[in-house]
Amino acid sequence: MRKETFAIRGQIERSQFNEHAVPLYLTSSYVFEDAEDMRAQFAEEKSGEIYSRYANPNIQELLNKVSILEEAEAAWATASGMAAVFTTFATFLAAGDEIVSSRSVFGSTHRLLVDVFPKWNIKNTYVDFNDYSAYESAITNKTKLVYIETPSNPALDLIDIEHLAKICKKKGVLLVVDNCFATPILQQPIKWGADIVIHSTTKFMDGQGRTLGGLIVSSNEIIEKIKAFARHSGPAMSPFNAWVISKSIETLDVRMERHCKNALEIAIRLQGLKTISWVKYPFLPSHPDFEIAKKQMSSGGGLISFELKEGLNAGKKFLDNLQLFSLTANLGDTRSIATHPASTTHSKLSFEQRREVGISDGLIRLSIGLEHVEDIWNDLFQALN
Ligand SMILES: *Cc1c(COP(=O)(O)O)cnc(C)c1O
Repeated sequence: MRKETFAIRGQIERSQFNEHAVPLYLTSSYVFEDAEDMRAQFAEEKSGEIYSRYANPNIQELLNKVSILEEAEAAWATASGMAAVFTTFATFLAAGDEIVSSRSVFGSTHRLLVDVFPKWNIKNTYVDFNDYSAYESAITNKTKLVYIETPSNPALDLIDIEHLAKICKKKGVLLVVDNCFATPILQQPIKWGADIVIHSTTKFMDGQGRTLGGLIVSSNEIIEKIKAFARHSGPAMSPFNAWVISKSIETLDVRMERHCKNALEIAIRLQGLKTISWVKYPFLPSHPDFEIAKKQMSSGGGLISFELKEGLNAGKKFLDNLQLFSLTANLGDTRSIATHPASTTHSKLSFEQRREVGISDGLIRLSIGLEHVEDIWNDLFQALN
């Protein structure tokens, strides 16, 4: 089976009812045949689900699909994308260890790096996303992992995964890639040498804004370590969410195709407008890292960022004028979404601090949905006017 087919047909064993669609296994625990079976399962001499904090058939189905899509050996599911990020860090870091991270990372990941890990004497060093020699010189003998996002949220910065993976291999540290914006349909970081891939399934994988979820994808050896930590610390994904997300993955490939087609068309049209100073989209030749996009992504994704010439007030006015677009914190939805980081997620930072993380006052992030492209365009055009 090709992976597109497995995303649709990959299914756990049918029950005695021979259902077509997979049933939802809402159970917190599983029964043992007898005392010996129970002993053997707890001793890990025999495999079994035991308890839904450890394993669940709906979660297993999702893990099988995602491993195939990412061309990886194994995966683990968590309650949210942030639980996947936290679990990965917590599995591999001890007091005194260090992280090297790209500066262009998701807001809550930034909070973990600057507020949470220092409490346990884990130090982070930020480097500019595309300064490869800075990554190399920031890695010390205490560094355990390098963390990046590509494309990044919200700046849509791109990092050459293969280039950075070679540096990490040479230095003997793990390379962790948040692949949330690309999804495994557009980019498979493990193929380029990454060790661990993180997903927030809340975005394109669910794709319809219903559930929270996260995934960690890697080798059997690394997932065994993740599992040993997660089984007892408890960031488990709910079986209901796994069921929804696994169903959603059946349509991920076709949805991404339309997200990308709509987004490219909108990005091209935005480029020509006088009210905008620049438009950033990975598959526009004007993107500073267009060559990297072409190398490691099969298409540009569903997100666009652009800058309104007139700054903060223009940004707020633009949002107020939108009629079709939703003003919401999510992205990767069938419905198009617009956000204005300077007046929302980054409003507590000063103008200077925002500039440091690449957020200008007129920056708008669009998540292009699956509506008809002319309706998406009409709404943007009238709001910009
Ligand atoms: C949303 C997001 C996360 C966090 O995921 P949640 O499911 O909201 O916890 C992590 N990384 C990126 C790039 C995201 O967009």
